[in-house]
Amino acid sequence: MKKFSKIVSVLAALAIAALCCGCGSNTPDTKSDTTDSKASMTVTEGKLIMATNAEFPPYEYKEGDKIVGIDAEVAKLIADKLNLELEIADVDFDSIIPGVQSGKYDMGMAGMTVTDERKEKVNFSDSYATGVQVVIVKEDSDIKTTADLNGKKIGAQQGTTGYIYASDTVENGGFGEENVTGYQNGALAVEALKGGKIDCVIIDNEPAKAYVAANEGLKILDTEYVTEDYAICFAKSNTELQTKVNDALKELIADGSVKKVVDTYIKAD
Ligand code: GLN
Repeated sequence: MKKFSKIVSVLAALAIAALCCGCGSNTPDTKSDTTDSKASMTVTEGKLIMATNAEFPPYEYKEGDKIVGIDAEVAKLIADKLNLELEIADVDFDSIIPGVQSGKYDMGMAGMTVTDERKEKVNFSDSYATGVQVVIVKEDSDIKTTADLNGKKIGAQQGTTGYIYASDTVENGGFGEENVTGYQNGALAVEALKGGKIDCVIIDNEPAKAYVAANEGLKILDTEYVTEDYAICFAKSNTELQTKVNDALKELIADGSVKKVVDTYIKAD
């Protein structure tokens, strides 16, 4: 018995060694020609794994079990162009960048705003859409403008720009971290507002419109926050994929395909 397990472990060691040699010969630095899209450009050969948080309509949300929305559709068009099969991983928003950095996902696409802080961690594609932070309140709220937000209980989605701005110090234009609650996703923040646990939710304008349309008794305040650029993020080490995806995205923007997708989800008001 002992002998048998020894043989098994020797065989296993050999198999691992063989596998490792296999991987080694595939690493980009041993290859002179990188035009072969089958190389280790993506986590799983033949697949494009996109991380998102599917609680951000109309960019990504669930219809039954399916993840739909602008990002899901644009990512599919990109994957088709690159002959890759799109796979979408639905995770918390603040797990997207760490997961992309560590090589768990090929890219993050989640209505993600390009910020200098994020640029230190990941690379971004060209921008394909824009957003503005807005404030959702109850229709009968005494909050009339953003000036009334001081001292109020604010909710936002953890790790988002809305959370980052709101939780900044008052001197920096925020409302103080102690006044802001971070929720795992936008839907939970809106539930907390409806349940009276918080006084408002700071979130991007398009999801805000979708949440207000789907929930009675809520409205959006007029705000003057700056416009944010949405882009796809990649691990800093994977510039090959970044370039290929970005080239595909450029073509899809130029031929009107991205606009077509956006227009099916966002109707001009
Ligand atoms: N645009 C915001 C950000 O990047 C929110 C994105 C999201 O919640 N999916 O932080």
